[in-house]
Amino acid sequence: MLLHFQRSTFEAWHLNKMLFIYISIISAIIHQINSFPSVLRIGGLFSDGEEEQELVFKYAVDRINSDTTILPRSALVAQVEHFGSEDSFRADKKVCGLLHAGVAAILGPLSDSTSMHVQSICDALEIPHIETRWDISSHREELSINLYPKPAVLARAYIDLVKYLGWKQFCVAYEDNDGLVRLQEFLKQAQKNDWSVKFYKFRPGKPYRETYWKIKKTEITNIVLDIRTENINRALKHAQQVGLLTEKHNYLVTSLDLHTVDLEDFKFGKTKISSFRLIDTSSTELITLLDEWSSISTRYGRRTINPPESIRTDTALIYDAVKLLATALQDLDQSQSIDITPISCENGLPWLHGSSLLNYMRPITFRGITGLVAFDQLGFRSSFTLDVMTVSEDGLQKIGIWNPEEGKGVNISDAWRAFLFQTHALENKTVVVTTILNEPFAMLKGSAREKSQNERYEGYAIDLIDELSKVLLFKYIFREVKDEAYGTLNETTGEWNGMIGELIRGEADLAIADLTITSKREEAVDFTLPFMNTGISILFRKPTKKVTTLFSFLSPFSMVVWVYVVGAYVGVSVILFVVGRLSPYEWDNPHPCRQDDQVLENDFSLLNSFWFTIGSLMQQGSDLAPKSMSTRTIAGIWYFFTLIMISSYTANLAAFLTVEKVVYPIEDAKDLSMQTEIEYGCVKSGSTCGFFKDSNLTVYRRMYEFMISHPYVFAASGADGKKRVLNGNYAFLMESASIEYAIERECNLTQIGGLLDNKGYGIATRRNSPYSRLLSQGILQLQERGVLHTLKDRWWKQKRGGGACADDAKKGSSSVTELSLGNVGGVFVVLVGGLSFSILMAVCEFMWRARKIAPDRKSMCDEMVRDLKFALSCQSSTKPARTSIRYAGYTGPDNVHEKPAPSMPGFINY
Ligand code: GLU
Repeated sequence: MLLHFQRSTFEAWHLNKMLFIYISIISAIIHQINSFPSVLRIGGLFSDGEEEQELVFKYAVDRINSDTTILPRSALVAQVEHFGSEDSFRADKKVCGLLHAGVAAILGPLSDSTSMHVQSICDALEIPHIETRWDISSHREELSINLYPKPAVLARAYIDLVKYLGWKQFCVAYEDNDGLVRLQEFLKQAQKNDWSVKFYKFRPGKPYRETYWKIKKTEITNIVLDIRTENINRALKHAQQVGLLTEKHNYLVTSLDLHTVDLEDFKFGKTKISSFRLIDTSSTELITLLDEWSSISTRYGRRTINPPESIRTDTALIYDAVKLLATALQDLDQSQSIDITPISCENGLPWLHGSSLLNYMRPITFRGITGLVAFDQLGFRSSFTLDVMTVSEDGLQKIGIWNPEEGKGVNISDAWRAFLFQTHALENKTVVVTTILNEPFAMLKGSAREKSQNERYEGYAIDLIDELSKVLLFKYIFREVKDEAYGTLNETTGEWNGMIGELIRGEADLAIADLTITSKREEAVDFTLPFMNTGISILFRKPTKKVTTLFSFLSPFSMVVWVYVVGAYVGVSVILFVVGRLSPYEWDNPHPCRQDDQVLENDFSLLNSFWFTIGSLMQQGSDLAPKSMSTRTIAGIWYFFTLIMISSYTANLAAFLTVEKVVYPIEDAKDLSMQTEIEYGCVKSGSTCGFFKDSNLTVYRRMYEFMISHPYVFAASGADGKKRVLNGNYAFLMESASIEYAIERECNLTQIGGLLDNKGYGIATRRNSPYSRLLSQGILQLQERGVLHTLKDRWWKQKRGGGACADDAKKGSSSVTELSLGNVGGVFVVLVGGLSFSILMAVCEFMWRARKIAPDRKSMCDEMVRDLKFALSCQSSTKPARTSIRYAGYTGPDNVHEKPAPSMPGFINY
């Protein structure tokens, strides 16, 4: 028994073991069927001269094979074919050869024409085609993916850099038509940004010099260069020969491969040659690739290639392309069973898994040696960062990065920014800066006497020079202008005084203050771009007297509203009267005890109607009471109207009585010119006086004549003018920036009228000074970084009592205005609606009554006509009472009294 049990247990164990082995074998077979073949071929098409790319292609395939985490069961095989770069016929043959051998995807070639040809074959036979070349087409074929950055995004990078560099005028030089397409965006942006852009094409086969000479004639120093990488060195040499590669010149090279060009000859010329780089030099894969270069070269090369300092962008893209393909194959392997079959170009039967493989490639994201590799929904590579590069004495250097995200753009470190903006003209120099004391541009500090030199001053202009000195790396010494003048030209001697004179005489290098850029001054000195905008206006003292008017009780409503209110009063009264007469329920027997000769009376005579409406409008009421529905509706809607109008009136009257209305004796410059009671003047040596002097407009000429005939009206400085205004009866013609500062602190000062002109303050330098351009660029930079805005806030709103009059300004802005029809029009609409409704009701009441007392339709109509005539005749407020009508031939019950009313012939009495 025991033996039998043991034997059956053993048999069961044996059976289980066999079952397990069978299942394992079957699952292994199934997996073998499902997974990739052990060898996966990838086709690579290269033309002559693309050895570097071919080498890296093979190397990348080997790297993937040695990585056990990617495609562990299959080995990639690089199947390479060569042909002439423009030889489409051979390309055709080579592609068909590759397809016949059975490839999972095809990479390359780099040349445009053959690549398009290969693309069409791949499309037809559904083989993924991976490209790494610049391609302008704005849509991707279904079976194609391109690792080269999207041209539109790349164009944005160029535009951002040009904007960053502050180029307003530049040339675009290109050598082939692709270049023109590439740079089209410059044309579009030129209009938007008010750039002056000139396009030049290098003539094929001719030296670049020819075109450079043309560029040189334009005196434009900023050049965008679109040249094939292999020609860049020669193109720069030619520019050097023509004299277009000096310290004044700036280049933007569009090639992403400037790092592969020998720039030895251009390092010391101080020309700013900038470009972008896609390759991520910090990538460990790239470092390993470059380290292993010599062995790679001997291992795979058809010939030995010298190790490059760094590889070309298209080569790097090939490496990333292989990685992308391998990752996609791995993902595909995990989800479906595929096989790679030989494809024949002749029978045109496509590969079944081509589009799936490509669909797996699109969402893949990884860090390759060209940075972040990711594709947008359309299959374009649009999220990538670029290194901003520039040529310095140490060769090509990375100076910042460009980020495609909106609002990020070019980001360059401060040190390199200073380098880019050619600070060397000012670098480490000490410049003498002349200024004039005027709030808040340049002011003496409270403890100025104890301090020396620059420490004595503070203000907007002082801070501005300090900020510029940080950007342009210069030192400065501030000096007050000796004659305390801004700068005017003495027409008899032809000499300039003030700060302008000091610049011309070489006593100062820069002049900064509230110094206005004018055409006359521009002839004598150079100005930078304006750092602040301004214009002439009038500074005046606020009147202190309150203005009273006799009929101020009318102010809450506008004239139109008053007219409407009167109209509504008359209209409602008349309608009440008519409706009252029409409605039978308004007719009442005043003596109910009297049974014979009953007479009906109506309370709403015309006079009573007017009395009723005025009584309610005045909130007093009257002893009249409407009885019918229609007249009560009129009363109700009129009460509502009264309620709203009286509340609005009361509220606005209260506001009018509390807010002071200030009336100025002058409203603008014209008013000023028409009178002589209030004196007015400007700073004697300033551009404001110059404006009136040179003006051809009668008003301004008259004002200038007044000023020169009363010379004491001229102020020595802004502070002097302000003092005179505070003393009263004086209007000071001042620039808005200074007015803004004054009224922020002196609350009884105000600006009268708008601006008489528009101009700006700039930093003045000597004529043809190299500083001017640099300072302009510096000002632009400070503007873009928001520094100018911060400085303005600091010196206008915060420091030295800023914001003292903020409350006054708020009060001033809370003015009261009369209510116009727009504010109360709705009540009139409701009134009209209510009145119409009441008229309708009166008609119904009228008809109802007629129907009740008339025996038939005809008599009802007659009755209505008669009653209507009586109502509209407006003759009497009394009428005889009736209950029904009896005509000749009437045979009804004899309970009807018949007696014609004396006042209404033909009427039958009740
Ligand atoms: N900004 C003026 C100038 O540069 C000085 C002030 C004025 O004239 O109002 O001359």
